[in-house]
Formats: sequence, C-alpha cells, structure tokens
Amino acid sequence: MTTAYCYHCGRHHPIEEMRQLVTKTGKRWRCIKSIEATKAGRETRDAFGKRVTADNKSQCQSKARITLNAGQQTPG
Ligand SMILES: [Zn+2]
Repeated sequence: MTTAYCYHCGRHHPIEEMRQLVTKTGKRWRCIKSIEATKAGRETRDAFGKRVTADNKSQCQSKARITLNAGQQTPG
C-alpha cells in the first residue's frame, strides 16, 4: 500500500485517501478527511462569526471599515 505523509495530521495515510497540494514550500500531501473537516469547520465558524457580529454590530463595523480602507491604499 502506498502511503504519504499528511502534513495536517503529522502521520501517513494511503494516498487513495489523500490529495496532493501545491504550497509555497512545494508539493505536500493532505488527507481528504482533514480537508473536508476544515471546510465544515470554516462554515461553522462563519455562522458563529455572523452571530457574534450581530451582537457587537457597531464594534465590528468600525473595524471592518478600517480594514477596507487599508486595502484600498494598496491596489493590485
Ligand atoms: Zn491526515
């Protein structure tokens, strides 16, 4: 069985259960399970973040505006 080192889990998995990703440091293997788990986690976090934003609306809006302005100063 061919395995590859999963940089996410820090262990080897069968490559059939993995994806090869190109990163700044080169090609790396990561298991599909961890990729899917990260996706699901991000969606959960986004939903949670929206709820927090509603609770602290004025604070978050002023922060967001500063971030947007900073982005506009460096086009491209
Ligand atoms: Zn893994």
